[in-house]
Amino acid sequence: MKAEIIAIGSELVSGQSLDTNSQWLSRELSALGIPVHFHTTLGDDLDEDVEAFRNAIAHADLILISGGLGPTQDDLTREALARVAGVPLLENAEALDAIAAMFARRSRPMAERNRVQALFPQGAEMVPNRVGTAPGIWMRVGQAIVVCLPGVPSELRIMYDEQVRPRLSQFASGGRVILHHKINLFGRGESDVEAAALDLTTRGRVPEVGITAHDATISFRISAEAPTEAEARRVMGPTLDLIRERFAELIVGEGTADVAEALLAQLVRTGSTLATAESCTGGLIAQMITAQPGVSAYFPGGVVSYANQAKQELLGVPASLLEAHGAVSSEVAEAMAIGVRDRFHATIGVSATGVAGPTGGTPEKPVGLVYLGLATPDGKVQTRKLEIGPEQPREIIQRRAAKHALNWARLALLQFPSK
Ligand code: AMP
Ligand code: MG
Repeated sequence: MKAEIIAIGSELVSGQSLDTNSQWLSRELSALGIPVHFHTTLGDDLDEDVEAFRNAIAHADLILISGGLGPTQDDLTREALARVAGVPLLENAEALDAIAAMFARRSRPMAERNRVQALFPQGAEMVPNRVGTAPGIWMRVGQAIVVCLPGVPSELRIMYDEQVRPRLSQFASGGRVILHHKINLFGRGESDVEAAALDLTTRGRVPEVGITAHDATISFRISAEAPTEAEARRVMGPTLDLIRERFAELIVGEGTADVAEALLAQLVRTGSTLATAESCTGGLIAQMITAQPGVSAYFPGGVVSYANQAKQELLGVPASLLEAHGAVSSEVAEAMAIGVRDRFHATIGVSATGVAGPTGGTPEKPVGLVYLGLATPDGKVQTRKLEIGPEQPREIIQRRAAKHALNWARLALLQFPSK
């Protein structure tokens, strides 16, 4: 069985709102073992709807359509479906009663326009909507099953959960489950990771392994298909183990976990505390850490020392160092890390100072140049130079620098014994 999702709405193609229904429905179908092969998004236009429905019916067995079921002139899904099926639209008494009852419960008069929501292509079934006025449509057109749901995500989800999924699981029976899992890595480029994983990402491998990058975190996405969930897990197991073993220290988490979660896990394991001294990241490192629940015993605090004076007064960075090397230098990163570790009595201190841009770069110190400092017990301190790239926007430079700082602290803690 092949499925297609069609999302209808001019606000979606114009970029004013994001089509989240296609993503949600695709995940749901995957969970039932029904693979989605196509997503189509189009505006509120009758001819285009008709064309999209015809195409879908020609290449998919199941078509889920969201949107265009409202009472207004631009809601054309009913009409387009009737045209494609070559049948008239007929008023459904049960649907009309349900719509009237919905208005009665809200003590509001029903507008004449709402009657159109009770129109169904001949031969279609109503999918009741207990949370809104637009009923859905279930219809066989040729060999395909077409299911139309309202675009409002909360209505679509309830209707799918309560009525569509139970019916689809019958089709999916004899059915298969598709399971997805994600393993996240940080600190290497996507192509480096891929080069080390060519045996895993070959097409047609079971389970399937793909690589994606988001916010400089590289993810392996592993997908396995099997008759049951337990079987899909079994199919996936050895590949997960292999990735965990091969990419060991690069792995920051699984599922949605990223660098900050991994750092917190190491702080907890080693019973360490971390303090932050930030210039170019403006508090982002501290924000990423404190976004983690349960961090309070491990993060005493941080300093946003943006001006040189703040670096001197709050962190004890010597004026001579700032004069001799400039604020963006390994010497100053070092002094910031030592200073903040000291002032917060933390196990480790991490610092970031750099040129976030878009202005302020020079040939010697271009935009994207960031120095990180890491102060560890016994007065040890190291620095690292990042060259994130002058072409990168400010936000990316700040986020990258912050994630590298967190990751460096994590890697350092990996060498610490458990408490
Ligand atoms: P409609 O059923 O086309 O009248 O859609 C009603 C509202 O639901 C729209 O104004 C959007 O805000 C929202 N909506 C429609 N389609 C989608 C979609 N694919 N993803 C997320 N929201 C949507
Ligand atoms: Mg709409």
